[in-house]
Amino acid sequence: MSQTPESDGVSGTSYLRGQIVRELSAAIGAANVSTEATELQAQAADWSWYSKYLAFKNLEQPSADIAVTPANTAEVERVIQIASDYRIPVTTRGGGSGTQGGTFAPYGGISLDLTRLTDIVDIDEKSLVVTVGAGIDGPTLEAELNEKGLTLAHYPGSYHLGATIGGFIAARGSGVVSTKYGKAEDQVLQLEVVVPPGKTVKTLAVPSHAAGSDLLQSFVGSEGTLGVITQASLRVDPLPESRGFLSFSFPDIFAGIEAGRLIMTNRLRPAVIRLYDEADSKKLQDWVGTPFTGTLMVIMCDGSKELVDYETKAITALVEKAGGSSLGPDVGQTWWDGKYEPYAKGKLPQPPLMYGTFDQVARFVDIPNIYRAKKQVIEEKFSEYGARYTAHLSHWYDWGAMLYDRFYVDEPPTDPAEAMDLHDRLWDAGILTGMENGGVLNDHHGVGIKLGRFMRPQYGHGFELMRQLKDAWDPDGIMNPGKLGFGPPRNSKW
Ligand SMILES: Cc1cc2nc3c(=O)[nH]c(=O)nc-3n(C[C@H](O)[C@H](O)[C@H](O)COP(=O)(O)OP(=O)(O)OC[C@H]3O[C@@H](n4cnc5c(N)ncnc54)[C@H](O)[C@@H]3O)c2cc1C
Repeated sequence: MSQTPESDGVSGTSYLRGQIVRELSAAIGAANVSTEATELQAQAADWSWYSKYLAFKNLEQPSADIAVTPANTAEVERVIQIASDYRIPVTTRGGGSGTQGGTFAPYGGISLDLTRLTDIVDIDEKSLVVTVGAGIDGPTLEAELNEKGLTLAHYPGSYHLGATIGGFIAARGSGVVSTKYGKAEDQVLQLEVVVPPGKTVKTLAVPSHAAGSDLLQSFVGSEGTLGVITQASLRVDPLPESRGFLSFSFPDIFAGIEAGRLIMTNRLRPAVIRLYDEADSKKLQDWVGTPFTGTLMVIMCDGSKELVDYETKAITALVEKAGGSSLGPDVGQTWWDGKYEPYAKGKLPQPPLMYGTFDQVARFVDIPNIYRAKKQVIEEKFSEYGARYTAHLSHWYDWGAMLYDRFYVDEPPTDPAEAMDLHDRLWDAGILTGMENGGVLNDHHGVGIKLGRFMRPQYGHGFELMRQLKDAWDPDGIMNPGKLGFGPPRNSKW
């Protein structure tokens, strides 16, 4: 519909669009409904390389036809009712800080912006649970919690880029201290979600139970393809009494991975373990101010003074066993104080540079091979383009870790079709090599439109089952079509 010329205002399509705009305006107020091209473009854009590249080349973002900004759950319900009546696609948007093209609207329809749903509904200081509107951003919520001596303990790199609570949950996000405090999926207790054809459902008050399979976790990570998360209850934690910092160098990344494995399998729980490969460590050498060779690991433990003392001692012993040499606490403190620096505006990679972050997750037994194989495939198969590969590991589990690995091509082809083709081929090579070596598609950025094609090889027949669930919940396929590999809307004539 976005390509249809608005010639006479009475053609079938433009008449229909006018009618839908009037219905939406009656439901949520005309000031909160827009068909302005600049607004539609802004609503579609995110932080994916594609989106940034399209903007760099003055090309259009795949956008919706109508943008709406409802104020509360009742208004979101009305929007989904109207979208269901007309079978119009709905693309939900939080802060637009995603990197997977999740806010692109390739089938047009309605873009639904949640950033007016910012209420702090309740802070339950007995159970340490906060209930908020899904559109509130991290720093706003954190400031309110800090006043009560509490923290959400969810600090993603996009913390200052507008990322919302709904976006954290919809894309299974993690943050700098997730190794101890968990990812969004571990922090969420309860969700309120608006599903087609415009009904609100609430999951159970607690996330652990034996009342059947898990409705809550079906919505977590669904990236707007099953419904719109309008409210969430999340675990909060007391602000830590103290923090202790450690830093180490290793002869190579593999010794560092072994050190991380020993820490986690001995069930110690530092809030941060950040291990950089040689290429990334070199970039940090001047910044941290302490000379070292090889690879760098920074660690932060938090909690009571006694806990921090115990953990830092126990961790130092394990890391030295794995071949690490202590660089003292200052490097860790410097890293912590500047942790958002690499994400500050102007410092992030941007086109014409080509880049992509794979963030795959795997068991400890597979991590070294995944690193080796991906580095090799990116740097050797794409050597004619001078492709570079770097990695760090920043989220660790009882059984494995996340490899935050990136490719860069400094001088990609200038023709957009060729550049996008190369970009996709780099993704194919990296993701499939990771999967062949035991890696899982993605750890915390989500799938979006960018990685949808890998869902079938990732899940096998399991993907058909997921698709059937999606079809049952959203029979017309109007919820964020084109994402998570679920394809276009089913019956839409839009
Ligand atoms: C520099 C940079 C650093 C980053 N660092 C991290 C990091 O450390 N950890 C991390 O996890 N991520 C990181 N990200 C990715 C991104 O910030 C997260 O995925 C974030 O959780 C997205 O939140 P958002 O509100 O901006 O979502 P959006 O970008 O608006 O949306 C992302 C997806 O979620 C869906 N969605 C959003 N809100 C809702 C809702 N209420 N209901 C249903 N669906 C919804 C959208 O439809 C879309 O598919 C980073 C991104 C950048 C650019």
